[in-house]
Amino acid sequence: MLDSYSKSIANLIEEFEKFPSIGHKTAVRMAFHVLNLSKQEATEFANIIVQAKENLKFCRFCYNISDNDPCDICQDAKRDKSTICVVEDVKDIIAMERTHEYRGLYHVLQGVISPMNGIGPNDIKIKELLERLKDDTVKEVILATNPNIEGEATAMYISKLLNPLGITVTRIAHGIPIGADIEYIDEVTLCKALEGRRKL
Ligand SMILES: [Zn+2]
Repeated sequence: MLDSYSKSIANLIEEFEKFPSIGHKTAVRMAFHVLNLSKQEATEFANIIVQAKENLKFCRFCYNISDNDPCDICQDAKRDKSTICVVEDVKDIIAMERTHEYRGLYHVLQGVISPMNGIGPNDIKIKELLERLKDDTVKEVILATNPNIEGEATAMYISKLLNPLGITVTRIAHGIPIGADIEYIDEVTLCKALEGRRKL
């Protein structure tokens, strides 16, 4: 497929194809976009990638990715230190922050328990979460893993570990997306929506 391109273009296309959700056609477009940049623009682009890699680090407390360690959220005195929201991925923090509803701290697991993929509890940041709960500051842990089989199993596993500690463990309610039609909702989602029902 790449044979008709000269080596340098083929290399570029190959790199862009490694990006999530980027197919061959888009990778070709991106590669040619880079080729059309001036030398200065291309150097700036390359530098931005190198700088991001050099400057960004994992927060030692919550495993968020940030220019600072501890991250800005952990350093923010206005955040409620008694609540930790456990998420799978750094991107989930950004989604939660967009709501402007949540004022507690986070903990990024960096994955979920997935026996099919050989990922056990020790391969994600569960030990590190337990470590943060030792000094009694945290009163509530909100489990915000994804509502799929692995996310549910991971939430169950963590809640079992935390229950004896006397910390309130909650699970975010999963339900029917706004604007959706009940007749087209799958049964897992509908089940979860029923479970998460509240009194009106
Ligand atoms: Zn942090």
